[in-house]
Amino acid sequence: MSSTEIIIIGSGIGGLSCGALLAHYGLEVTVCESHSIPGGAAHSFQRDGFIFDSGPSLYSGLSYSPSPNPLKQVLDAIGEPLPCLNYDTWGCYLPEGNFHTSVGAEQFGDILQQIRGKDAVQEWRKLQQVMKPLAEASIALPPAAIRFDWNAVVTVSKFAPELLRKSSQVLKLIGPFSHIADEVISDPFIHHWLDLLCFLLSGLPATGTSAAEMAFMFADWYRPGVVLDYPVGGSGALVDALVRGLTKNGGKLQLNAHVKQILVKNNRAMGVQLRNGDSLRASGAVISNASVWDTLKLLPLDSVSQQWRRQKQQTPPCGSFLHLHLGIDGKNLPSDLPCHHIVVNDWEKGIQSPQNVVLVSIPSLLDPSLAPPGKQTIHVYTPGNEPYHLWSQIKGNSEAYQQQKEQRSQVMWQALERIIPDIRERISVALVGTPLTHERFLRRYQGTYGPAIEAGKAFFPGPNTPIQGLWCCGDSTFPGIGLPAVAASGMMLANTIASVEQHLHLLKRLS
Ligand SMILES: Cc1cc2nc3c(=O)[nH]c(=O)nc-3n(C[C@H](O)[C@H](O)[C@H](O)COP(=O)(O)OP(=O)(O)OC[C@H]3O[C@@H](n4cnc5c(N)ncnc54)[C@H](O)[C@@H]3O)c2cc1C
Repeated sequence: MSSTEIIIIGSGIGGLSCGALLAHYGLEVTVCESHSIPGGAAHSFQRDGFIFDSGPSLYSGLSYSPSPNPLKQVLDAIGEPLPCLNYDTWGCYLPEGNFHTSVGAEQFGDILQQIRGKDAVQEWRKLQQVMKPLAEASIALPPAAIRFDWNAVVTVSKFAPELLRKSSQVLKLIGPFSHIADEVISDPFIHHWLDLLCFLLSGLPATGTSAAEMAFMFADWYRPGVVLDYPVGGSGALVDALVRGLTKNGGKLQLNAHVKQILVKNNRAMGVQLRNGDSLRASGAVISNASVWDTLKLLPLDSVSQQWRRQKQQTPPCGSFLHLHLGIDGKNLPSDLPCHHIVVNDWEKGIQSPQNVVLVSIPSLLDPSLAPPGKQTIHVYTPGNEPYHLWSQIKGNSEAYQQQKEQRSQVMWQALERIIPDIRERISVALVGTPLTHERFLRRYQGTYGPAIEAGKAFFPGPNTPIQGLWCCGDSTFPGIGLPAVAASGMMLANTIASVEQHLHLLKRLS
């Protein structure tokens, strides 16, 4: 049996952030990834010269340091630059009409003036005032300072005076964002808009999204001179940067290495057994970056109490996705076509309603290297609102599957036709993805976006498990599904495993 100090199950952004930092701290790390491509939900793949993002395309806070974005903090910590292209505008296709909007405080006020009038503008300005101190509070303690043991007293102490000054605001960050929005906003459109932003952040409306997540977003999106980022080379470039961070310090990434079981002896995680029969021993720790439901499948039946297992199994999942990955002829597209677009069909159906919200990303408009000359790469998806149960009984190779794919993908084609009317005549490559694709290629239970844990009703569990030496990171552990949150989860766990001296040294370097 070969051995290492730390085994990480999964090379999602959470696992890679953790692994790259642990390798930076001098630990011997092996990441076992089931897929042939690293990156999990953020991997990219190629077809016929087009480079596609499988998932994320919205990034911010990556172009400057020190940044409140934990992902940027990880990249800075491991010394891996990630060149980004910048933009500030995206297209909206809403029941109220179509418009382009920008990040930053001012321009959305102009849109509101046009579609809702001056009272709505005043309410928006009031919300910004209310959010300003909350936004400052949300970034008063950098995630890089947090660790999950008593030494946190030492690493957080430098930030304590600032935190104390903001303590009244910090308490408000604990509940759902709707508590704050409801006090200030009566305009129905602004409520819908905020629900949309919350949904894109957490997979839940304002009633379930934590105020801290939204405050963090306000801190990032409404600062002066704000721009959004897109990594040169797409999401694969981010994955490559983290993999470089891992391997340059001696860490290993094993692809096609599906973990079948976590080996547990006397309530201690000893290593993993792979599907190909190999075993790998861990002298320090085993870290699962797989989702909570997928991690449970890896635990021997008698290794944890039935009660703990049941409780974890009952974590509610967000819905799944439909995807269209298209390679198209880019001739005569409008010169001001933004890279990103949001389509909402009907606010009254509710923001989580299936087939209601469609996102479109055309990243090759920013980075032409993602498509052959004269072509464009498009990713359309319904974000976390496709019910898994509609697909769970269908066989992936059946006629019924093809028919359902054809039928349920129409909403994405129709959304795209509002942006590029002759889209169907431009196609070179068209791939439709479903919850079954998601489940299979991302190795995610029910193809879910992540846990639907409602702010104010339950807490994300953090990295601990009842088994010694077994930790978790990724979107099942830390609030705010998305790259900043999963990077934070990986970074905080790596800092917990490192010595307090190493951690303090890192903090000094980052500041
Ligand atoms: C379509 C889509 C669009 C998104 N858009 C954005 C966006 O614009 N901005 C943003 O910030 N976030 C976005 N997100 C969310 C973000 O991509 C995810 O929250 C994040 O990538 C999840 O990272 P993770 O490390 O928690 O887990 P994952 O990415 O799920 O990684 C887990 C890894 O573990 C591996 N694994 C699982 N089981 C095993 C096993 N038994 N053995 C070995 N390996 C295993 C999997 O193959 C996978 O690689 C989007 C997500 C999707 C799906």
